Amino acid sequence: MQYFKLFVASIITLAVMSACAAVDTNNSQSTLFSQPWNNGENVNEPAFHVQQIDANTLVIRQSLRTTFEAPFMYLIFGDEKALLIDTGVKGVNLRAEIDVQIKNWLTKTGRDTLSLIVMHTHGHGDHIGGDSGFEDRPNTVVIGHSPEEVSAFFGITDWPTQTVIFDLGNREIELLPTPGHHASHAMVFDKTTGILFSGDVVYPGRLYFQCSKMQEFKSSIDRVHIFANTYNVNWLLGGHIEMKAQPGKTFNSQQTSRSGEHLLELPVSIITEIQAGLSKMDGAPRVVEFDEFILFPHPADPAGMSPPNWCNAGVGHD
Ligand SMILES: [Zn+2]
Repeated sequence: MQYFKLFVASIITLAVMSACAAVDTNNSQSTLFSQPWNNGENVNEPAFHVQQIDANTLVIRQSLRTTFEAPFMYLIFGDEKALLIDTGVKGVNLRAEIDVQIKNWLTKTGRDTLSLIVMHTHGHGDHIGGDSGFEDRPNTVVIGHSPEEVSAFFGITDWPTQTVIFDLGNREIELLPTPGHHASHAMVFDKTTGILFSGDVVYPGRLYFQCSKMQEFKSSIDRVHIFANTYNVNWLLGGHIEMKAQPGKTFNSQQTSRSGEHLLELPVSIITEIQAGLSKMDGAPRVVEFDEFILFPHPADPAGMSPPNWCNAGVGHD
């Protein structure tokens, strides 16, 4: 997310739009997580809620009590390196939380040391806010936020069409550049769990991209589709939850309590749903709601315009 501030009026407009049924959703218990995510209802909830997918794969949610973005971050352990994907919104001590989690992992596995790589799905403020806490951390690399910096670290020579494998020590991840929402957006596929960490390009919420970036966004989704058909992707885990469990319903972005959220994880079939939605626009980007996500193209400067057809304001717009 992040364009939210420009969109307060837009979200209200959207509330009167009708949802079109495309994906069959249900509110069954997650098969990945043992607890529902903290949803801000408890005023005393801690700054971070950590759940594990397995002993080497942690998912961390920043509390809605600290930011309406409530972003999800991911910490995955290999034998030699840990990878932190995103650092959330500033104002909380993510470094301390990550240090505790790494210390616990080292104790459990009987190891002395582990290096830490801090990367980002993209460079928006709600995904890089905790970076400064890691700058002086020993044995740690914090990767920059531009396509050039991401490419340099991972050895990408052909952004965005090249994918690269990165070894954490007996655990390979593969980086998929997916610009469109943001120039440096990349997804991370973890071969061990079959999870595709999909950032803000695919998550149960408003999938934002500038009107002029629709083709770039669509090309990224098409590459993800091909990738998911090649590899055994089990789930997509993104950066936020903005949908309700009830199909097609969203939370107001500023709500700090979100009882009845959609699950975090999305099935691989969501990729073809997004493709179909983009194709239906036939080159004319507009806001369209689906059961589990909203395609949300927006003008670079939305002042004086409102969705859903604000990308095409000069064409038959009153
Ligand atoms: Zn975001």
